[in-house]
Amino acid sequence: MNDEKGYLDDLLRFLSSSPTAAHAVAKVSDSLLAAGFRRVDEREAWDLVPGDGFFVTRSASSLIAGRLGTGREEKHGFRIVGAHTDSPGLRVKPQPQRRGEGLTRLGVEVYGSPILATWFDRDLSAAGYLVVREDDRYIRILFDLGGPLCRIATPALHIHREMNTKGFKINPEKHLPPILGGPEAGYEDLVEMAADRAGVDGSRVVLAHAELYDPQPATVGGLDGSLLLGGRIDNLAMCHAAVKALEASESATSSQIICLFDSEEVGSRTLNGADSTFLQTVLERIAGSRESLLRSLSSSLLVSADGAHAVHPAYADKHDPQSRPVLNGGPVIKINAKQRYISSASTTAYFKDCVERAGFSCQYFVSRNDLRCGTTIGPLTASRLGVPGVDAGNPMISMHSIREMAGTSDHGAMIGALREHLGSGATIEP
Ligand SMILES: [Zn+2]
Repeated sequence: MNDEKGYLDDLLRFLSSSPTAAHAVAKVSDSLLAAGFRRVDEREAWDLVPGDGFFVTRSASSLIAGRLGTGREEKHGFRIVGAHTDSPGLRVKPQPQRRGEGLTRLGVEVYGSPILATWFDRDLSAAGYLVVREDDRYIRILFDLGGPLCRIATPALHIHREMNTKGFKINPEKHLPPILGGPEAGYEDLVEMAADRAGVDGSRVVLAHAELYDPQPATVGGLDGSLLLGGRIDNLAMCHAAVKALEASESATSSQIICLFDSEEVGSRTLNGADSTFLQTVLERIAGSRESLLRSLSSSLLVSADGAHAVHPAYADKHDPQSRPVLNGGPVIKINAKQRYISSASTTAYFKDCVERAGFSCQYFVSRNDLRCGTTIGPLTASRLGVPGVDAGNPMISMHSIREMAGTSDHGAMIGALREHLGSGATIEP
């Protein structure tokens, strides 16, 4: 799959079949296995040799994959791409059932910062995992129910007269619980359906973890077919680009690593987030010794790949006058003086060359001083490891909406640029 269209079709399938971070990691695992990468386990000894491709997962929703460098010396370091697997959304609470007014609703908790209004009046489904006890082991079994199962309903205009003029104010506790059906519909039926679909005997299920999602598949749209439309583009599109870049790379003197972390939308300080031990311990194991790790890190480079803000034509004044990334204008390098992004002039120069060597041009994003700037896993990863890096990502509109929008031609450009990075032997003066 070398052509841009092939990558795009594959991305659409990946977005549509990855309703949760754990589903995305399962899809990536399948893809890596098919491409000849070997699964390793944090509990076992690893016997990897130069040129070997491997991957390891933690808590089902984070994954690190790589190909060991053929250069035996530490001076070649790691070429790392980081992205995140989680997306803002709604998670079903334990004991969620709420009955009244002839209907059953489900209590939900807000995860990260979704644009809540976009979750109303969509035909929602649920996906997640079942915890099943097998003797003394607790295992996770993924499920995806698909289809319209529940709905967060807007009130009619006569109940909320000023909705269009004064705004649609949402009380997340009161207004978000979706309607699951009539008074007979129950959460236990949903869990039973999940067990059924997953082929698990319902009596073995101890608990379920369920997240809501929009089952409308991702698609290409716009009259000219230039728009990529779907849920979770932030940041599954960059996870996909990282995986395809790694799979398409030849082995190089430097070790090539991609890390796809969960928990970015809630601050990353979790068992398998960017602020965990996961990446550092994996790198230490493949480096062989502490000394070798430290020397390797000092010649490493990180690209933190996450969705970037394209200019929205109705809100163009919210952007810096000169830095207004557009859809299909190429990968965006993000710069912030307060270091919410890690890009420096040196690392920006490096990644600009990666984009150009791939045959594309890049764009720049810098925030207005009177607007708050977002952040990524870049600062955490770079500062934990002591590795210089750059924040980059493809331009998108409606970030954190239940259905986001990006440009179709930018995806192939990012895969090309990340491939240049993974194969690069360049160094940045320490
Ligand atoms: Zn993101």
